[in-house]
Amino acid sequence: MSENAVTPVETTNAPPEADKARYDQLVEQIRSHRDAYYQEDAPLISDVEYDALFHELQRLEAQYPILAGQDSPTQEVGGEVSAAFASVTHASRMYSLEDVFSLDELNAWLERAQVNAQRLHPQTPVKWLCEVKIDGLALNLTYREGKLVRAATRGDGTTGEDVTHNALTISDIPQELSGSGWPAEFEVRGEVFIATDDFNAYNETLIAQGKAPLANPRNAAAGSLRQKDPEQTAKRPLRMFVHGLGRSRDFEMTEQSEAYELMRDWGLPVSPYGRVVDTIAEAKDYIAEHGEKRHDLIHDIDGIVIKVNDLATQEQLGYTSRVPRWAVAYKYPPEEVHTKLLDIQVQVGRTGRVTPFGVMEPVLVAGSTVARATLHNQEVVKAKNVKIGDTIILRKAGDVIPEIVGPVLPLREGNTELRDFVMPTECPSCGQPLAPAKEGDVDIRCLNAESCPAQLTERVAYLGGRSALDIEALGYEAAAALTSGPGEDPATQGGVILPAGPGPLHNESQLFNLKDKLEELGEVKVWREKRVKGEGTGKFELVPYFYSKATAKKPSAPTRSTLKLLDELEKAKDNPLWRVLVALSIRHVGPNASRAIATRYGSMDALLEVLDSGSAVAELSEIDSVGSIIAEALVDWFKVDWHREIVSAWQAAGVKMKDEQDENITKNLENLAIVVTGTLENYSRDTAKEAIIVRGGKATGSVSKKTDFLVAGESAGSKLDKAQSLGVPVLDEAGFGVLLDQGPDAAREVALAAPTEG
Ligand code: NAD
Repeated sequence: MSENAVTPVETTNAPPEADKARYDQLVEQIRSHRDAYYQEDAPLISDVEYDALFHELQRLEAQYPILAGQDSPTQEVGGEVSAAFASVTHASRMYSLEDVFSLDELNAWLERAQVNAQRLHPQTPVKWLCEVKIDGLALNLTYREGKLVRAATRGDGTTGEDVTHNALTISDIPQELSGSGWPAEFEVRGEVFIATDDFNAYNETLIAQGKAPLANPRNAAAGSLRQKDPEQTAKRPLRMFVHGLGRSRDFEMTEQSEAYELMRDWGLPVSPYGRVVDTIAEAKDYIAEHGEKRHDLIHDIDGIVIKVNDLATQEQLGYTSRVPRWAVAYKYPPEEVHTKLLDIQVQVGRTGRVTPFGVMEPVLVAGSTVARATLHNQEVVKAKNVKIGDTIILRKAGDVIPEIVGPVLPLREGNTELRDFVMPTECPSCGQPLAPAKEGDVDIRCLNAESCPAQLTERVAYLGGRSALDIEALGYEAAAALTSGPGEDPATQGGVILPAGPGPLHNESQLFNLKDKLEELGEVKVWREKRVKGEGTGKFELVPYFYSKATAKKPSAPTRSTLKLLDELEKAKDNPLWRVLVALSIRHVGPNASRAIATRYGSMDALLEVLDSGSAVAELSEIDSVGSIIAEALVDWFKVDWHREIVSAWQAAGVKMKDEQDENITKNLENLAIVVTGTLENYSRDTAKEAIIVRGGKATGSVSKKTDFLVAGESAGSKLDKAQSLGVPVLDEAGFGVLLDQGPDAAREVALAAPTEG
């Protein structure tokens, strides 16, 4: 933590007994966690928890300076040198970094450093060298006469571990420098890491060999570099980027960025992500920019390092016993944390699939609080080797869905509360037996599609979604309230706490008649989780959902969301046929297949006629984007009476189910595969696809040699690159207009890509 953030009142008095005892406890804990992290490469707590202990220690020392001795962890760098390696004294000391966790703290730190730097060199404006903070481990390389003579870990900063043989197996590290002009002897520091793609691929191989995957790239890199046998190190995909200089003779540089340029010429691996900026504001822009593209880099980062670029100023600003005074690390919110796995429950999905998910002690990760994470199926639970009661590693990278990585195995010892997860044999929602849909399926399903409340809730929420009927007021909570009536026991479903029992909607068929069921709507109440201040867990409260102050007998005023729902349901009746098809939750029938079917038949009646004919599967399979699996699923679905009733009830309620065909549209795109990417001004992704499909074309998702055209709007990304490399004709929005109006030949002439023949 920055010195700026430590603001307790300083006192020369001895601390009270309790503070002293806490202080001693913290020192002991930090030392033992450092051992686990630096010696064993297997931390027992997450970095956030470690940082919290460390900062508490810093605060106590700031409050009672009498406590802070030379041997405090706050004065030391990292861990000790392991006896497994020969020790090496670094020619110049290696340091840790001061860290800050907010932009305010960062600002204060940079402003203070700027004032100090200006005082030293009033004529030289301060420039900042911004770099990503690679999540790996530090390595110090010594070159003499251009040859690598030693590689050592940071150790305690003064003495490190000799890992020269291991470092020689890393291809990024040159054994001999190229070019000329290198100093006779110098130390260069950098970070050894495993790139994300390499890490994932390596783990896949381990899993394929039946071995446990490595938990994260940082610990994997540290463990790999610190192998006793270099042959083992050589098997791991280690990489390195340099990020600093140690002792050097004859190195006459003025700026660190200049030194990087030289090092790059000598063949040393310099990170491609660094940037020199002139102002604090630009340094903050760099932080924001890399916060967004954090997952596009080749390796994990845990923050940004900002350094004074001028080397003379660095030297004069100097160091504390632990960190330089000319550099600071801004840390992003952590993406990997530890938490307790309280339970593994199962959830019943829209198609009856029963999925186990972990219920965890709520924990803040990558900026949001997470209390649940899917575990996919019982095989995954087994493969991840997690037990109820474990402390687990939870990862949430950016917007990605939170993932339970695995247990913190050393913490299992002595834990008597561990339990294995057992997949239930009955549906937790309707009590019917669970079974795989067909033999050999890993997934287990509840086959009671019609009246299983959980499946109904999921289906209703799905049909309100953007890719189906797009009814904004029909989100998960409304769907849950509609399908579950008042009851005694709160049962947890997907984050909403619901009463048990049937609600006003017994199945989808009554959806468009809800306005006739106001009485029943008035009775719907839901359990909500209400936060009790200061506590992590919630307290339940029963609140009316569709009517305010609803009584059991008579609804009073409908809530605004009720009115909105009824209004939107009316409007939804005019949806195009393909959206209605999606809304029916027919297995495998998503927006693409629905569009193709709707384009072919134009109305539900025409489709029903085909479905009732003997050749339905064969005919439907012929349609592009449909195929036999979807055709069979459709035919099977429409054979079920209660499914047909949904369709007729919706038709009777006035759902249109017929598309107006524009007779002027010619089928000029038949047999053409067209991909749309990027943002178009006059089309949404949906309307662009529709325009293609109504002309007989196929709107496909990925670019291949078989793609006939790529339509590329603003900010088109990798698909554009791929199309260009394959020579697929690329059209901008105007070109797309030509394609729609005049057909493929005219469009090929205006294509922007390397033209193909014709
Ligand atoms: P640090 O990792 O926060 O920062 C210093 C290090 O960053 C440097 O030594 C260097 O190796 C590295 N670095 C990466 N990119 C860099 C760049 N571009 N420029 C300069 N340096 C760069 O500090 P630390 O002292 O090495 O370790 C402390 C941290 O380690 C803690 O904050 C915690 O996150 C973690 N830790 C965790 C545990 C645990 O039990 N989980 C225990 C000990 C330490």
